[in-house]
Amino acid sequence: MKYVVIGFGVAGVAAMEAIRSEDNTGEITLISDDPHGYYSRPGLAYYLTGELHDKALYPKSSEDFRRLKFTALRGRVTKILPEQSALELDNVPSITYDRLLIAVGSQAIRLKVPGAELEGVLKLDHMEDANRILKYARRGKTAVVSGGGITALELVEGFVARGMKVHYLLRGDRYWSNVLDEQESKIVEHSLQKEGVKLHYHAELVEVFGKGGHVIAVRLQDDAILKCDLVAYAIGIRPRVELAKEAGLEIDRGILVNEYLQTNGSNIYAAGDVAQVYDPSTGTSILDSLWSPARQQGYAAGLNMAGKKTPYNKSVPFNVTRLAGLTTTIIGTVGRGHDEDLVGISRGDSETWRQLPDAFVAQTGFEVNNLRLLVGEKTLLGAIVMGDQKLSFPLEKIITGHMDISPIRESLLIPNANVGDILVDFWMKKQAAA
Ligand SMILES: Cc1cc2nc3c(=O)[nH]c(=O)nc-3n(C[C@H](O)[C@H](O)[C@H](O)COP(=O)(O)OP(=O)(O)OC[C@H]3O[C@@H](n4cnc5c(N)ncnc54)[C@H](O)[C@@H]3O)c2cc1C
Repeated sequence: MKYVVIGFGVAGVAAMEAIRSEDNTGEITLISDDPHGYYSRPGLAYYLTGELHDKALYPKSSEDFRRLKFTALRGRVTKILPEQSALELDNVPSITYDRLLIAVGSQAIRLKVPGAELEGVLKLDHMEDANRILKYARRGKTAVVSGGGITALELVEGFVARGMKVHYLLRGDRYWSNVLDEQESKIVEHSLQKEGVKLHYHAELVEVFGKGGHVIAVRLQDDAILKCDLVAYAIGIRPRVELAKEAGLEIDRGILVNEYLQTNGSNIYAAGDVAQVYDPSTGTSILDSLWSPARQQGYAAGLNMAGKKTPYNKSVPFNVTRLAGLTTTIIGTVGRGHDEDLVGISRGDSETWRQLPDAFVAQTGFEVNNLRLLVGEKTLLGAIVMGDQKLSFPLEKIITGHMDISPIRESLLIPNANVGDILVDFWMKKQAAA
């Protein structure tokens, strides 16, 4: 059996692990155009702030890879030819496959304003971008950052950590309004302001000015001019569907796959950020754009490629991130629908967060610690834990385990209830009874 995997990201690696768990003799070829190989993209934020050295971003050792027994080809796939079960690359003769996985991820939506092509107008997709950002980030210089989600905030924090002055442009009246509520946005914004970041609300970048090829200023839609030395943006991402589209595979916003991660092309699978996966429980096909789902999808795809029929069961979204220095855990459904700040999907954002079912909100917060719960009829549907994380673990178990919270539901919904204590008590009783 000849397996070919396009993409050396988490989905591609998980697929190879799954294939090897079922088939120790098949031939695996991995193709990637990223000269830096397999590394943690979420870790790039910590690389920018200087908290992580680049070496810490590589989760696998060469011994781990040796065990997977695959041939790595550096190159860019330029065409998939489903009728010949073959691929064309930019630098080697075409290769054939018996089973193909497309795991090419997504890419940042490009800024399209006059001046966007200037050196010093930067995005953050991969290691090469991070290195470019570090080349431009200099103490005492000024950055303008545009975008409303996690990646934009990571850029802001990276520049602050490098001693730069930062103007942060938000299209709406607050930060990340499709996921956070007003109080949570405020917590993040105050924290940024304390670090000296200048926030600009209802601000849209319409032009970048340069001199001698270098950025010198930006113009906003109200004609305000901000002098700066670089511009960084994170205004959404888009799955890389071009190869699949040209090959005649079915696509919507991502490559459409069934619950076995199969495309409509014979023996062709897709997983990770590029895949829009059918969820039989809701009858919808969704993009997930997050590390853990990419890994789980890659693994399920690999098993299916090796002949073990295994559906991908979407788990409850769970994401731990850092927002302006505050550890934040986001579990399940917490969002609020449309956000004018975002074009497409923001990194670290999950579509399911936007599909808010009817639910009540129970909330508690003090200074920089904040907890919000979405309380369904019998279960907790979601939670955001900012700051103190002692409730994250029980909440993850309560929400992902769909535990019946009827005994505490009413008390959670009493105004100003001590939600934290009620939950801890509930969790301890559950533990004792288990
Ligand atoms: C800055 C940043 C921060 C993030 N933060 C978080 C976070 O906090 N939490 C979270 O859950 N997720 C986060 N994510 C998202 C997460 O990293 C992705 O969901 C995940 O990496 C997707 O994995 P993937 O394998 O599908 O694709 P990728 O990791 O994008 O890998 C795609 C691979 O395909 C290769 N490729 C593409 N086109 C071709 C071609 N034509 N030929 C050959 N090779 C090709 C690329 O070189 C790459 O090796 C973040 C992403 C970024 C960029």
